[in-house]
Amino acid sequence: MARVILKNIVKRFKSVTAVDDLSIEIQDKEFAVLVGPSGCGKTTALRMIAGLESVTSGEITIGDRLVNDVPPKDRDIAMVFQNYALYPHMNVRDNLGFGLKMRKFPKPEIDQRVQEAADILGIHELLDRKPKQLSGGQRQRVAVGRAIVRKPDVFLFDEPLSNLDAKLRVAMRAEISKLHRRLGATIIYVTHDQVEAMTMASRIFIMQNGALQQSGVPLHVYKQPANRFVAGFIGSPAMNFMPATLVEEQGAYYVHSNHFKVRLPDAFYPGVKAYAGRPVIFGVRPEDMAEQQRELSETRANTIPTRVEVVETLGAETFVHLTCGSHPMVARVTVPDRPLIVGQELEIALNMSNVHLFDKDTSRTIV
Ligand code: ATP
Repeated sequence: MARVILKNIVKRFKSVTAVDDLSIEIQDKEFAVLVGPSGCGKTTALRMIAGLESVTSGEITIGDRLVNDVPPKDRDIAMVFQNYALYPHMNVRDNLGFGLKMRKFPKPEIDQRVQEAADILGIHELLDRKPKQLSGGQRQRVAVGRAIVRKPDVFLFDEPLSNLDAKLRVAMRAEISKLHRRLGATIIYVTHDQVEAMTMASRIFIMQNGALQQSGVPLHVYKQPANRFVAGFIGSPAMNFMPATLVEEQGAYYVHSNHFKVRLPDAFYPGVKAYAGRPVIFGVRPEDMAEQQRELSETRANTIPTRVEVVETLGAETFVHLTCGSHPMVARVTVPDRPLIVGQELEIALNMSNVHLFDKDTSRTIV
């Protein structure tokens, strides 16, 4: 297996810069997920690693080899595509073995590798079927099998679960994670789905407009986003943002808006003091907002006044769409004691130790 290094990679399609000075280092056996909104350049980055797209400038290294000019078939990678790209006229066995046959592997070796892949994926009973006789999930498994038989240094996955229904996606997520452990392979996986990224990755790389915004283990990125974009992209429902001003009063720091004034924890002071008196963006995750207990509401400590707009009851939890002034917000609460009524005024308590402030101009995280 192998590590993959992208150094200052740029890809231009005429006037469009699809990938803009991307430098990332993916370690041997790592499960790296490139994630970002549609058009951020993640598929182009993956296709350059595969050799399906040329590089405008920069260097791609797989293992110890600079591969910029190495054709795809000689790169020791295998790619699983979004649409699976199975040959419709071949049965599963032949689909699995086809790549090896093209590479002139002897038949006994092909048969053995196909058997191994079928063992790993549990698809023996499908070997004589044609792709059209398979369900979406089964086709997906065959597409993965076709990569496994190659025994590549690096597996590349391009949105492989996006054609599956929600339930199957969850099941296949777990299967691919198990497969990663079993094969001990380097995997580079592209998705626009931050839940897939969070649940599967050993490290995630978040892209926007062709550029890397942040990389790290999923929980680190969730807890310490580098900027407002990452903060809003990772986490569902997304973080709430509100314009506010940071004020200092008698040595304490407050986030102040037209509708509320909440005090920051002491631990934040060193990080925020340079922003005293300046406008900032206040960020709070839906799970850090709680319906204020009636008995505490007298104190109004670190609470904000809101109005209930929509209540989404999911069973174990409830998403409450609110407005604070005219500002929309979402709170994620456990099932409320009393039913929430649209139009009702609601005092919401904030877990201040988890809130964030962002620079209004640069969008960088202040704390
Ligand atoms: P999606 O999730 O929608 O597939 P993505 O993040 O994978 O998006 P890319 O497919 O890498 O994004 O595209 C990045 C940018 O490059 C987009 O603006 C896209 O329109 C542009 N682009 C991609 N391929 C080409 C091409 N062959 N010719 C011109 N522009 C392209």
